[in-house]
Amino acid sequence: MKIIEKIIDMQDVMKIEKETGKKIGFVPTMGFLHEGHQTLLKEARDNNDIVVLSIFVNPLQFGPNEDFDAYPRDILRDEQIAKNMGVDYLFYPSVDEMYKDEKTTIIKVEKRVDVLCGKHRPGHFDGVATVVMKLFQIVTPHKAYFGMKDAQQVAVIDGLINDYHLPIELVRVETVREEDGLAKSSRNVYLNESEREKAPKLFQALCLGRDKLADGEKAIHEVKKGMEEFIALQTGAKVEYVEIYAYPTLEELTSPIREGKFNIIIALAVKFSKARLIDNIVFSYNKGE
Ligand code: AMP
Repeated sequence: MKIIEKIIDMQDVMKIEKETGKKIGFVPTMGFLHEGHQTLLKEARDNNDIVVLSIFVNPLQFGPNEDFDAYPRDILRDEQIAKNMGVDYLFYPSVDEMYKDEKTTIIKVEKRVDVLCGKHRPGHFDGVATVVMKLFQIVTPHKAYFGMKDAQQVAVIDGLINDYHLPIELVRVETVREEDGLAKSSRNVYLNESEREKAPKLFQALCLGRDKLADGEKAIHEVKKGMEEFIALQTGAKVEYVEIYAYPTLEELTSPIREGKFNIIIALAVKFSKARLIDNIVFSYNKGE
């Protein structure tokens, strides 16, 4: 595995690999790798000639009071995991390298960001779209792998690829969970012992919401209310949002919910003492036709 820190070097090796007809699979991350990331890497390894992993904690996607400085980092451990997963190139640029010139443009996301995390983290998805666009230009992959844990991010990247006619296939990977249902996340290390015990209730709340809809509940606000009460009672954490939308458009659903067959996302963000956790489930709704 080669570790590359400079943009120009990354572009040079990718040019050479592509000249010899190699297919490039790309997994962008912020590091502190866990089994969620590893599943993306395995998918990439199984379906491409060359696997590129990037590790870059992107300041542009963090708000002023968010955890950019405190975000967990352990590059030596990440290197070892990357090697074990068969990564060919680890792209590990510094903040200065990625943003050395003063920005003259920034990608501004217009759709699918007025809800969920986009609503609660202003500018976050502009930062994500901008860095992903830069990384795509540097790595020029054939396929890029993203986790459904961040379902709104997947929807935004899908829009980016379409809008800018990028010749890149977006591969969505299902959320990887701990045995008790908690979605794997680099931020889970912020949970204290008692919070860690309660955190699986978030996934249970999502399942509760999905089951209520499956059982015929038509009032969206009733489903959300039930979930919010369950989370408050079972975890004591502060609910930032519990939302239910059509997926991937992230458009409002009517309440009572209309009949038909379509995909629904139930998503939540919850604040424990140090950790803000997000989770979601996407499922097919099929009623009344
Ligand atoms: P991050 O390092 O948190 O920015 O995540 C990098 C990529 O890994 C993103 O595409 C995430 O959606 C994905 N990812 C993070 N956690 C999980 C998980 N538990 N299951 C599947 N993919 C994940």
